[in-house]
Amino acid sequence: MRVIDETLFASADPVTLKGSACDTCGAHVFPALGSCPMCTGVDVHDVPLPTSGSVWSWTTQHFEPKPPFRTDGFSPFSIGYVDLGPVIVEGWLVGRTEWTIGEPVRLVLAKAWTDGEEPVHTFAFAPASDVAEVAS
Ligand SMILES: [Zn+2]
Repeated sequence: MRVIDETLFASADPVTLKGSACDTCGAHVFPALGSCPMCTGVDVHDVPLPTSGSVWSWTTQHFEPKPPFRTDGFSPFSIGYVDLGPVIVEGWLVGRTEWTIGEPVRLVLAKAWTDGEEPVHTFAFAPASDVAEVAS
């Protein structure tokens, strides 16, 4: 399965994001970095991030963004910050356009656009109650 940027993922199946953790101060960041933005330490290592969390904040965009945004067909979409525990990650919220702060969500792969005939996936968060692994 093609993903938008392989460096974002510790694993594509099951989908897991790759962050980094600082050995000096314990800070976690996403995407992974080679040094710590909190203490400037360089003793950092890659870590797989939790695959479930809760909505920390969100908004729904009702107009099509300008390029380089790509999509097969525009419809209103939600973007949110998801609290994964050690780090808050910004991402696409899929499945609906109304959310509640604190509600549980889980990491999924979602089709971002189609390149020729090939779907290109990115990470997203779906309601924890949904069972589909790939949202469309
Ligand atoms: Zn640090």
